[in-house]
Amino acid sequence: MKNFESRRERIIDVLKNSDRPLNIDEIAALIGLNPRESKSLYEDLRHAAKTLYRKSKGREYIAMIPPRCINCGFVFKNLNKLRKPSKCPKCKSERIIPPSFMYVEE
Ligand SMILES: [Zn+2]
Repeated sequence: MKNFESRRERIIDVLKNSDRPLNIDEIAALIGLNPRESKSLYEDLRHAAKTLYRKSKGREYIAMIPPRCINCGFVFKNLNKLRKPSKCPKCKSERIIPPSFMYVEE
């Protein structure tokens, strides 16, 4: 049984130990989560990032590289919810690069 707290800690751990940004599927693979469940990680990631920022008083945080449309290059800068958008608002393509995440320490 995994509890949510340890899952969030592991998300931060894998990001800390990575030298490049990771998307949600890569994080899922690294913490041993079924890829089908990887979407559920967005919520955990959001909480984990908040906690990290608060505990470190803003010295450590998780930066997001926003999703981007492969077809036209549109960047989803204003995501109201952490997720992989399903469709590009500009060209309607569904080929979207998911957001990726990086641990940053100042
Ligand atoms: Zn597009």
